[in-house]
Amino acid sequence: MPNPSALPNVCPCGGAPTAIRRKGAEAAYADCCGRYIAQGQLPPDAVHLMRSRYTAFVLENEAYLLQTWQETYRPGKLEFDAGAKWLGLEIKDFAPTGLKEGRDTAEVEFVARVRVAGKANRLHERSLFVCQEGQWQYATAVNMSS
Ligand SMILES: [Zn+2]
Repeated sequence: MPNPSALPNVCPCGGAPTAIRRKGAEAAYADCCGRYIAQGQLPPDAVHLMRSRYTAFVLENEAYLLQTWQETYRPGKLEFDAGAKWLGLEIKDFAPTGLKEGRDTAEVEFVARVRVAGKANRLHERSLFVCQEGQWQYATAVNMSS
């Protein structure tokens, strides 16, 4: 896993306002996605979970990604592309979608850019999230790339 202190002066997800006020990469990460990934706090909503999962991809934190994946859809393990360089996350839309089967749900549409083996990829997805016992989890996604 890359050392967060080797990262730029904002959280990999692009940072939150509180992250920018403090100096240093570790502080930025700790104030933003590190609260959920490293300190065990629960993201308050699906968009914070989405950001922290992007950051976990940057850090190649398989345990966090699996733990925040709804059981029905959770893969057995994750493979990370060797040498992948994540270039940024852009949240396009965040829509709470109400109770479904007694559980709170939400959708987050995003564009993530990643370069693998010198080739740039743009992932445009609308992800579906479910809140189970106070814990938001990623369920599945619809690919929005044309
Ligand atoms: Zn973050």
